[in-house]
Amino acid sequence: MHTCPNCQSTRVVERHLGRDTGGAIGSVAGAASGIAAALRGASVGAEAGTTVGFIAGPAGASVGAIAGACIGGLIGGAIGHEFGREVGNTIDTHWLDSHACVVCGHHFSPRLAV
Ligand SMILES: [Zn+2]
Repeated sequence: MHTCPNCQSTRVVERHLGRDTGGAIGSVAGAASGIAAALRGASVGAEAGTTVGFIAGPAGASVGAIAGACIGGLIGGAIGHEFGREVGNTIDTHWLDSHACVVCGHHFSPRLAV
């Protein structure tokens, strides 16, 4: 339990500014890189699909590429989100005024308060 360095109150809440921001940034960055990776893989998959036969045809390859990009984006976004949260959490803990006192509104970092 942290106490407010200003008024010594124990009614302190965590703000998670960095964590939430990091999670959002990580989601976008992860999704973008996931889609990019999926598209690189999709072009290989499209060639393979075209080679395998004309049953699915170019349309099938396109659907495969789009599905691959979606899956890549989802996975990349999820990984990026978790990674961003971790980084943001670290920033919260070490650099930002991650805690706020409910009583007096004072913002502080628990590391400095100890
Ligand atoms: Zn206070």
